[in-house]
Amino acid sequence: MKPSFDLSGRTAIVTGANTGIGQAIAVALAAAGAAVLGVGRSGMSETETMIGSAGGRFASFSADLSTIDPVDDIVEAAVSAFGSVDILVNNAGIIRRADAIDFTEADWDAVMDVNLKTAFFLSQAAAKRMIPNARGKIINIASMLSFQGGIRIPSYTASKSGLAGLTRLLACEWAAKGINVNAIAPGYFVTNNTTALREDPKRSGDILGRIPAGRWGNPEELGGAAVFLASDASAYVHGTILPVDGGWLAR
Ligand code: NAP
Repeated sequence: MKPSFDLSGRTAIVTGANTGIGQAIAVALAAAGAAVLGVGRSGMSETETMIGSAGGRFASFSADLSTIDPVDDIVEAAVSAFGSVDILVNNAGIIRRADAIDFTEADWDAVMDVNLKTAFFLSQAAAKRMIPNARGKIINIASMLSFQGGIRIPSYTASKSGLAGLTRLLACEWAAKGINVNAIAPGYFVTNNTTALREDPKRSGDILGRIPAGRWGNPEELGGAAVFLASDASAYVHGTILPVDGGWLAR
């Protein structure tokens, strides 16, 4: 049987679809046939143009994901725009950098709220729609910090390690209900999230020096993994954290 990567007739919610990794994943899912609802606090006109000019379907919903208040409205917006919720990509995320010894409660809470708490409660809201259809795909955007400690990013490491655990827990609870919950762990990609690292010659050199591929990733290079985990081709894949990292973890 030929594996199917076709997402025609499916609706995807992608958080943080205005830029970076979320934008690239939204574009890839749309190219595979999905109708995409981009969710975030910034305008999505660039993503809308990219998808629309390729003949895809896109709508946006404005929401601040630092609280869980909008989660039900996000799911309803997808249903009212496109008729269903079949795929959720929890991509929106932030990072705060400071030595652990100086790290503030505000920087702890801000990161945990967006990266972990909202990802969980939005997954819960989406799953309430998916379970009656016995069909759904949830893809969390994890990190190398789901496997490693890192430095100067305590709340980010805690949130991404937590997201890996949550991916496994939700897979265990929802696999038998027809929902595949998995994560993608990007290595080091050229986005706003990594501007500070790339502008620090020492850190940038250290990072580049251990990437077997010898370069930073481009967000478009996550599209294939996202389409795979969103499609029937991954029907029996549950609770995995798929690294797309230029070989970083292999070193
Ligand atoms: P980015 O360009 O900074 O994108 C982050 C996205 O999250 C933006 O769309 C941002 O919206 C959105 N967001 C943040 N806080 C939000 C809030 N309160 N409400 C709504 N949206 C919010 O960085 P990125 O690299 O594409 O990051 C995407 C995901 O990949 C994150 O979860 C990040 O941790 C993860 N990741 C990135 C890398 C990498 O190398 N770049 C590696 C591993 C994992 P605004 O534009 O409005 O701020």
